[in-house]
Amino acid sequence: MKHTFFAPPEAVTDSTITFSESESHHASRVLRIQSGEEVAVVDGEGNWYRTSIEILGRKKMVGTILEHKSDVGEPGYTLTVAVGTLKNVSRFETFLEKAVELGVSHVTPVVTKRSEKSRIKRKRAEGIITSAMKQSGRSRRTGLDDPLKFRKWMKQLPVKGEEFRAICHEGASETQSMEATLSKSVSQRNMLILVGPEGGFTEEELNQAVDKGFVVVSLGPRYLRTETAAIVSAATIMLSNYGEGAA
Ligand code: SAM
Repeated sequence: MKHTFFAPPEAVTDSTITFSESESHHASRVLRIQSGEEVAVVDGEGNWYRTSIEILGRKKMVGTILEHKSDVGEPGYTLTVAVGTLKNVSRFETFLEKAVELGVSHVTPVVTKRSEKSRIKRKRAEGIITSAMKQSGRSRRTGLDDPLKFRKWMKQLPVKGEEFRAICHEGASETQSMEATLSKSVSQRNMLILVGPEGGFTEEELNQAVDKGFVVVSLGPRYLRTETAAIVSAATIMLSNYGEGAA
């Protein structure tokens, strides 16, 4: 199937899917989908449907469900990336799009001591998440928090349990590379990665993270921009799990 569409769970019954005006318009006017064509539909909550389309008008389209599967395109682990807030919204949005493609389950923007003032454009961000989910063949939406203060966020994190936690720090040595650290750690299903803002972490923040069970890791010999570091860490985790039942 060439095309994937989005329909929220409330638009899906046992046998049919009713599409929004914008998805219907995109299908009939931009992609020139014809009645009878089969398309994939995802609901952002892990449901995937093979569907036969019926075009009822320029902005009206329904689908008959032919097949249902769960968690298509989803990795076999959960990965949260907590990232220092960025002043430049478009850099954050670039990261968000790539995070979805790389299978990140959740993004938490964190306001640290050296963070620049920032805000998230929620509606745009949700649109980016939906598009990247469809484009990359995932069936679950990546969750996105509103920015949280570092200290408060750290405080409410449960004491380390089963989760693999790592804080990316440009001062970490070669022997602490994320790849090496992952290969030494027992295979984990839940992972949490913390990446600093453009000004980096303070010593106090690093210590607080270590106290909460974060391992300090390096992403290589060069200083990476925040969004690059966040993308590299998610890609490293994706590839280190590839072939272990993780899509
Ligand atoms: N402290 C530096 C400064 O003030 O210029 C650099 C901060 S760096 C631009 C932003 C964040 O990306 C860091 O806090 C860290 O989490 C991550 N990062 C960048 N390069 C890294 C590397 N080589 N290894 C690990 N983390 C890195």
